[in-house]
Amino acid sequence: MGKRINLMSLIVQKYGGTSVGTVERIEAVADRVVKSYQCGNQVVVAVSAMSGETNRLIGLANEINESPDLREMDVLVSTGEQVTIALVCMALQKRGIEARSYTGGQVKILTDNVHGKARIKEIDAHRMQTDLKAGRVVVVAGFQGIDDEGNITTLGRGGSDTTAVALAAALNADECQIYTDVDGVYTTDPRVVPDARRLDQITFEEMLEMASQGSKILQIRSVEFAGKYSVPLRVMSSFIEGPGTLISLEDNDQMEQPVVSGIAFNRDEAKLTIRGIPDQPGVAYKVLGAISQANIEIDVIVQNVAKDNSATITFTVHRAALKQAEALLKEIAVDLGAIEVDSDDRIAKISIVGVGMRSHAGVAAQMFEALANEGINIQLITTSEIKITVVIEERYLELAVRALHSGFNLSDDKAAEG
Ligand code: ADP
Ligand code: ASP
Ligand code: MG
Repeated sequence: MGKRINLMSLIVQKYGGTSVGTVERIEAVADRVVKSYQCGNQVVVAVSAMSGETNRLIGLANEINESPDLREMDVLVSTGEQVTIALVCMALQKRGIEARSYTGGQVKILTDNVHGKARIKEIDAHRMQTDLKAGRVVVVAGFQGIDDEGNITTLGRGGSDTTAVALAAALNADECQIYTDVDGVYTTDPRVVPDARRLDQITFEEMLEMASQGSKILQIRSVEFAGKYSVPLRVMSSFIEGPGTLISLEDNDQMEQPVVSGIAFNRDEAKLTIRGIPDQPGVAYKVLGAISQANIEIDVIVQNVAKDNSATITFTVHRAALKQAEALLKEIAVDLGAIEVDSDDRIAKISIVGVGMRSHAGVAAQMFEALANEGINIQLITTSEIKITVVIEERYLELAVRALHSGFNLSDDKAAEG
């Protein structure tokens, strides 16, 4: 007993859909939790629904209605996680460990009332702390919360990552471990580039850019949360042992900084262009303001003015919002006397990310060269301090990712040190 107390750390472990995808895998998760518990840690587990389950539930709803009521949708999709918390607890109890499962509502994961993409406002850690003190393992349903009025809410796809980090922040945990089907964060998605390399560490800033540019390994909000509350975060495999990737909290000024740490990409966006609009104050506001007011998120924006003083604005939105955005843009076009509106949903977005870019010139040129060598046309370009993003034709996506991965020597251990 004495030994347990001396070594005790509070660890939050999150297991994703694949990691709890079958009964055998749930048993393996239980073994892993027991191991950490027996090392003397207090363990809180956050789990996703079994893989495929959330999609199956969404499919059922869509058989009844293409756009079902969002409140009822949350009641439906939150059931996936309720199944796994119970099964994980049963597997722990079979191993002689006292364990208790809780839904989001039961541990008062209080969110706003935006169904389908709710934000966590507060967590009442009291009940979990009482369990932990009594030597129990606490198992919490990921992805879900409850609003002020007691309605079930969900946090958006991939939201169990955010639950785990929020629990870790609320409990002041020593570490939040995200267990998944890869053994860490790689230089790019290993499903696209098989010789991608696992990173031992990545900074919060970089991870945030990777996540927001489409790398789905962590939900963006979980990274934001971890940064805001200084939660040490580690991505690891639930199948194989290893150190995983630490999302490092410290300011890495002292560390050697690779120019490019990783490549993120997505196929979720579509591009809209409005041509022949007046080059006058207020026009960009008229075009983009109307889109934003319809709650459509705009990502990349590029404006150009031709010799005849007519302007063109191109921007991207999520593919799911394309039809609505295009209809709105056509109305605005009539209003502004624009020449034409066109749309393209066969685009992909690729970003190279690295804090080392701050102190290196010529990174963009190196990126464009790698794409030019493959004959890939760049449609749009946008940059921030630590990333360069291009939009290209979707069918070249994998080729482009591979060309950039080798162009920046990311498979190599001394990755792109510049
Ligand atoms: P979980 O169900 O455990 O939440 P996800 O499917 O959400 O797992 O995330 C893990 C997947 O993220 C991996 O299987 C991998 O294909 C993908 N992925 C995308 N980008 C990266 C990256 N840079 N490093 C590692 N995995 C990545
Ligand atoms: N089950 C939810 C989803 O599939 C949440 C998660 O897995 O993180 O998006
Ligand atoms: Mg995930």
